[in-house]
Amino acid sequence: MKELLAAIRTLVYPLSCIMCNKPNFEICDSCKLMWLHSAKIFRISNYVTSAGIPYDERVAKIVLSAKEDNAKAAKNCILLGLDSALVKFGQLKELPINTFLVSIPSSKAANRSRGGDYLFTLSKVFLANRNLAIKKTLTLPKLPFLMQNRKVKDQSGLSAKERERNMDSAIYVNPRIIDMNIGSRISVLLMDDVITSGATLKSAISALEASKITVMGAIAACASQHQMRIP
Ligand SMILES: [Zn+2]
Repeated sequence: MKELLAAIRTLVYPLSCIMCNKPNFEICDSCKLMWLHSAKIFRISNYVTSAGIPYDERVAKIVLSAKEDNAKAAKNCILLGLDSALVKFGQLKELPINTFLVSIPSSKAANRSRGGDYLFTLSKVFLANRNLAIKKTLTLPKLPFLMQNRKVKDQSGLSAKERERNMDSAIYVNPRIIDMNIGSRISVLLMDDVITSGATLKSAISALEASKITVMGAIAACASQHQMRIP
């Protein structure tokens, strides 16, 4: 239904770049290139974290249309950002074979309104495209690896401290994943679409550490300029 509405919209309104409004493109070439050439490394809870592009108003439009409108061109940008983040990550750190690519969970309400776990689905698409050698070291969990515990308040409008409190212990490891991997050493690379305060990622890291799972680090399609140390 959402796709149908999007198709009708382009009939009524002329097509223009989601990011810069340049006419006749869903995403223009110069905006697309930004997703490929801006990756940076930083640290969250002392773990190597790599993000594809600094988050700004234009990037926010991509994140939203990928997540809420299921727009293909926007999703492709997110996938490009993840590719470039992973390449940058690989330049710094080697991943053990069969490292699980673990997506950050959304709330149950968000999963309901989007018809499934958006990032878990995206992680499948991301790994299905074997365009990068480093993807061979990654494996998908059969089920969502992490889950959200209780009702988490909408993060927008909360301060960094409030966000951290909001997310504290909100994420836990799916007990079925633990059962499926008893006795084996589990390594994990976390994956998110956007990192802002880092509170969600920190909560995921604490949950994994508490379950004695080795966290290799994290990748994201985009992150706040503050996280990416952009002045
Ligand atoms: Zn553009």
